[in-house]
Amino acid sequence: MVTMDDVAAAAERIRDMVRETPIKPSASLSRQAGGPVWLKCEHKQETGAFKLRGASNAVARLGDVAGVTTASTGNHGRALAHAAKQLKMRAVICVSRLVPQNKLAAIESLGAEARVIGASQDEAFEEAHRLKHDEGFALIPPFDHPDVIAGQGTLGMEILRQIPDAATLAVPLSGGGLLAGVALAAKSLNPGIRIVGISMEKGAAMAASLEAGHPVEVEEVETLADSLGGGIGLQNQLTFPMVRDLMDELILLTEEEIAAGILHLAVEDGETVEGAAAVGAGAVLAGKLHAGDGPLVLILSGGNIDPARHAEIVEGVS
Ligand SMILES: *Cc1c(COP(=O)(O)O)cnc(C)c1O
Repeated sequence: MVTMDDVAAAAERIRDMVRETPIKPSASLSRQAGGPVWLKCEHKQETGAFKLRGASNAVARLGDVAGVTTASTGNHGRALAHAAKQLKMRAVICVSRLVPQNKLAAIESLGAEARVIGASQDEAFEEAHRLKHDEGFALIPPFDHPDVIAGQGTLGMEILRQIPDAATLAVPLSGGGLLAGVALAAKSLNPGIRIVGISMEKGAAMAASLEAGHPVEVEEVETLADSLGGGIGLQNQLTFPMVRDLMDELILLTEEEIAAGILHLAVEDGETVEGAAAVGAGAVLAGKLHAGDGPLVLILSGGNIDPARHAEIVEGVS
């Protein structure tokens, strides 16, 4: 179980490890949404995504371990590497042979070891498990962990401190650590607040699991919102029930709608974000998300997009 006390303790614990990120109004999206829209600029977080909050809290809570490990090459891997470095701990990020050189370099530039092992993500994950069982490492998963959820919850606290009358929060949704933490914090502070989760139409494991009533696997499909891909874990303990109980509405977007969100945020609001972070804007532009009884806050969850891919979308070539 994760409680509001855990979130408040996390905020205290990670105060010097993460940035308080800016929040700013969007005039163009406010017109589209029929009420005030705010952009929570978490892509301005150090390492470029909110995941630093959960990783920092989890690492700071550890006792005596040989180091930390995970098998993520994306925003969680970067966050864990950065948090471990700040606390002078060893980090080993396990990756498969398929992972491109630039991603390995990014992990190593954060002071972590990128251990290339196996031909698939699953095999990389086995190495992380081996480090845990044989070498005394702590395996920090990307979402289904109470300290990770509590850390992400600090983002919900921060939003309500910045916009106390926020009526709706639009939250990008994958494994659900972000939504679970943010919803827990926001509803503790304002029980009437509306929490809207947003995923892509194809390959959204949480959406399929909610529909089935239990965690299920989905086929992974390539998507512009690459940080929203991947499963929720068939043995999911925390985020599945929390998302099920705390989320008020789920919106699914097409690839075109996600691209429109990226484009709009770049051109109208001057923000460079990755696909996962553009789903709130995409949903407003598609007419699927409106401001209700008060301010609507869109979480721009990350900015780690290949610059060439971003340029293609903004310049309209693909
Ligand atoms: C991880 C991630 C998400 C989704 O977070 P979950 O906790 O897995 O739901 C959304 N946006 C970005 C940029 C991410 O890195």
